[in-house]
Amino acid sequence: MSPILSKEQIALWHSLLAAPRHIVITCHRGPDGDAIGSTTALASWLRRRMSNADIRVIAPNIFPDFLKWIPGAEEILIYEGHEEEVRPIVEAADLVIMCDHGELKRMATLGDVVRDHPTSRIMIDHHLNPEPGIADLVISHPEMSSACEVMLRVMLETHAPHGHEAHELPLLTGSEATSLYTGMMTDTGAFTYASSRPEIYELISILLSYGIDKDKIYRNIFFTYSPNRMKLMGYLLYVKLDVWKKAHTAVMTFTNAERRRFGALNGDTEGFVNLPLQILGMKLSIFLREDTEHPCIRVSLRSVDDFPCNEMAAEFFGGGGHKNAAGGEVWGTMDEAIALVKKAVQKYMTLLKE
Ligand code: 5GP
Ligand code: MN
Repeated sequence: MSPILSKEQIALWHSLLAAPRHIVITCHRGPDGDAIGSTTALASWLRRRMSNADIRVIAPNIFPDFLKWIPGAEEILIYEGHEEEVRPIVEAADLVIMCDHGELKRMATLGDVVRDHPTSRIMIDHHLNPEPGIADLVISHPEMSSACEVMLRVMLETHAPHGHEAHELPLLTGSEATSLYTGMMTDTGAFTYASSRPEIYELISILLSYGIDKDKIYRNIFFTYSPNRMKLMGYLLYVKLDVWKKAHTAVMTFTNAERRRFGALNGDTEGFVNLPLQILGMKLSIFLREDTEHPCIRVSLRSVDDFPCNEMAAEFFGGGGHKNAAGGEVWGTMDEAIALVKKAVQKYMTLLKE
């Protein structure tokens, strides 16, 4: 593996981490396995190297139950709903490290607090087009599977710790390796997409050497359905799935009325957008769900091969993401969202038809 950090970046990393006593580690709103994995791993890793520093992980809002077992997740502070207690912690930070996103707006109101607080920042991420000037040190690798993959590379390349001899301190603990593996696994659908670069498997091999139980991690993440979620999945596939054969596109919708009917919890529809891609020939799957807090429709897009979900998301749904997994929103009704989806699919028909 050739290094990803330049000499200048490594020097900047060490200088940014030399002084701080209060470090805040953050991620994007709607934290996923990669966000929770990368932030918890980094917090633990830095604590072992900087025993005097106060290191906190702050998520913009709550994260789903199936991520709560991740080592360190129990101490994550949640900003939304706890603004008065958490804002002073951000305002006391002398370094903010943002993981798994490249834009302050993806942290919602926590992003505003970070924007207004003049302190050093590091960004560690794998999304396209990081916001210019978002951080003093921008470690951005869109070619990588996950922020956790970038994080592990950063750890490998900066493993000269402060005040310790390298050999005294293991590169990782089992818990850190577990967090990192979780993010790599969840952002690649258990290594079924965005995971063809050979380096990924070298990194997994390193993580396995710290004794992680990858089969258990898989079960902890994917075999966690509640009976309600299982039934909701059956209902959506049976009743709500619309397949547009000519466009090789599937569209599923989910309303708040259905949410109430099935007693669905936040996160209960996580991953449903991937299911229609199991239909032979599908290229694009779009999942539309009514937001529970705002009068808008959340849009999730997934594709196979070269179909650019991120371009469609940016052009039609004010969002973005990766080639095969992107998202955005429509400020309007479900009918308006469906109409916009039809327009988007029409625009991309040549690509989809092939
Ligand atoms: P999901 O469909 O799981 O909500 O999002 C899939 C991916 O799309 C996320 O990992 C993220 O990279 C991207 N994404 C989702 N929503 C947005 C959004 O509103 N803006 C941008 N820029 N990216 C998004
Ligand atoms: Mn990610």
